[in-house]
Amino acid sequence: MRNILSFLLLLSLVTAQAQSDEVNITIDTLAQNTYMLTGRGGNIGIYVGQDKVFMIDDQFAPLSKKIKETIETLTDKPITYLVNTHMHGDHTGGNVNFNTDNTILIAQDNARKRLKANGQKKVSTNEMNQKDFENSLPEITFSEDLTFHDGEETLMLFHVHNAHTDGDVMIYFVNENVLHMGDTYFSGRYPYIDLNSGGTINGYIEAHKKALMVIDSDTKIIPGHGEPSNRSELENYIKVLEDVKRTIQKEITAGKSLEEVKANNNLTSKYDAQYGTGYINPERIREIIYLSLTASTKE
Ligand SMILES: [Zn+2]
Repeated sequence: MRNILSFLLLLSLVTAQAQSDEVNITIDTLAQNTYMLTGRGGNIGIYVGQDKVFMIDDQFAPLSKKIKETIETLTDKPITYLVNTHMHGDHTGGNVNFNTDNTILIAQDNARKRLKANGQKKVSTNEMNQKDFENSLPEITFSEDLTFHDGEETLMLFHVHNAHTDGDVMIYFVNENVLHMGDTYFSGRYPYIDLNSGGTINGYIEAHKKALMVIDSDTKIIPGHGEPSNRSELENYIKVLEDVKRTIQKEITAGKSLEEVKANNNLTSKYDAQYGTGYINPERIREIIYLSLTASTKE
């Protein structure tokens, strides 16, 4: 039994190593001091300030070394602040490595609660050690918004309610005119909405409308997943989601079952070629929206 366990452990370590070996971290320069890093997992935002680096999300733990090396090609300033846009592992897995004495980890209140609950479960099943658990947790949390000042630059962190999860944060770099939307935006593809962690389709669309209130036609958007985007693409995306939502609501009103809506390709067919080839396929987006619209509201 022990041999099998150590073999499995070895296998998982080898797999993690192999995965990190084949991942390349690429850099998109979005403004004078703001970058988007892509590897595997959620897109990372990097802002190089006057004497410190402000980082948003950190992908998976096996990639931390590569990510650090990539940031070092941009600047030798220390990573002083690290924000988690929400609690999913493809955005927070690197917390255990980045959360050192010199780096302050920040998230919305609910994101920390969920990270803590998930971490405690992993500690109890020996998937995570106590030190990693402690490092995985944000040190500063906030409920609605938080503002950072760095010379002439202002970074606005604001919470959007029940969108992708119940702990989502967007970060707007005012002078750089860059908005990191976390997983409240999957550019060019249907979104994943985590209904079990407080996400809803209505909150998701509301989050987009809140984003539109702070950005203009020149703003560069860092989505949680997908290519860098902009206001007009986001406006289009809202139209698509609102249209699909309306269509599915009609089916629900007509008494159609979840299985019928999942099976009915016609409901989303005009958007599927453009948006349905990613992680969330057309059937899955119909399911997510159906379940979200029929869930009893908590309030
Ligand atoms: Zn996510």
